[in-house]
Amino acid sequence: MIIVLKKDATQAEIDHVVEKIKATGLAVHISKGKERTIIGAIGDEALLTQVPLETIAGVESVMPIMKPYTLVSREFRKEATVVEVCGVKMGEAALQVIAGPCSVESMASLIETAKQVKASGARILRGGAFKPRTSPYDFQGLGLEGLKYLAEAKKVTGLPIISELMDPRDTELLCEYVDIIQIGARNMQNFRLLTEAGKTKKPVLLKRGLSATFKEFLMSAEYIAAQGNDNIILCERGIRTFETATRNTLDLSAVPVLKEETHLPVFVDPSHAVGRWALVAPLALAAVAVGADGLMIEVHIDPENALCDGAQSLKPKKFDLLMKDIKRVAAAVGRGV
Ligand code: PEP
Ligand code: MN
Repeated sequence: MIIVLKKDATQAEIDHVVEKIKATGLAVHISKGKERTIIGAIGDEALLTQVPLETIAGVESVMPIMKPYTLVSREFRKEATVVEVCGVKMGEAALQVIAGPCSVESMASLIETAKQVKASGARILRGGAFKPRTSPYDFQGLGLEGLKYLAEAKKVTGLPIISELMDPRDTELLCEYVDIIQIGARNMQNFRLLTEAGKTKKPVLLKRGLSATFKEFLMSAEYIAAQGNDNIILCERGIRTFETATRNTLDLSAVPVLKEETHLPVFVDPSHAVGRWALVAPLALAAVAVGADGLMIEVHIDPENALCDGAQSLKPKKFDLLMKDIKRVAAAVGRGV
């Protein structure tokens, strides 16, 4: 921690700051310049987090040296974390594609979609059973029935399942059926939910909140890791900006920035980012080019009649073509699919 004192800080004020730091057990290094004094607090910075140094008279600014997130940071673990589910590895050279409908609608349509996305090369099936909808009058998902359909689709195709957890009370139930817990954008800062997901030890795909900074995103991942669960996949899904031409604005800088900051795999969901199926393919390819470890793409056999997010869903044929392009771009950046 570096503490910069005001130009006119008195010796008594400087002494008081030094006293406060020493009381925590940290050592102090004082650098007296012509203009002002700078104090370096040396040792475990975490010990100072409870001391509101910025409120002390004479202090101009306080700069932490350590990142506020520890367990998920690159500083903590240099090598990339590989999250494995049913033999599918996320975070290695081969990138993985998660595909499926926004929400589970019927057994038949889910199984048909699962078969098709599997044939095209998707390795994980998505489908919401509990849906976070803006309007309480919109389709809220099939709940337990939807989870049962997902389990059946897994039985038929062998694809592992990801589905969203919205309520801590559903944790046990959801975990009986899914292989990966999804935490949606709207719940990125639902700290009780993050803690519950962390306790399960199941892999968790955490989506970036609608207006979350990377720091906030990583602090949320830290909540899960703090429970002893570091099987976390981060997912950029677009953020809210002034632009209205697309549903959200896909922030592709998330991929290189997060890969620098953390050892966790980073996925991109172009479907929720753009909200229009015609824009999904170019942004999916861009995500691969920029180094994403995987993609999450919404696919529906009949988008016109989808109960949720039909406008951004690819038909299986379009998804198949996209997968071929993904393979080409992945190869160009030294990755397989
Ligand atoms: C979803 O994946 O179906 C979803 C609701 O995504 P998000 O939380 O990113 O809006
Ligand atoms: Mn959706």
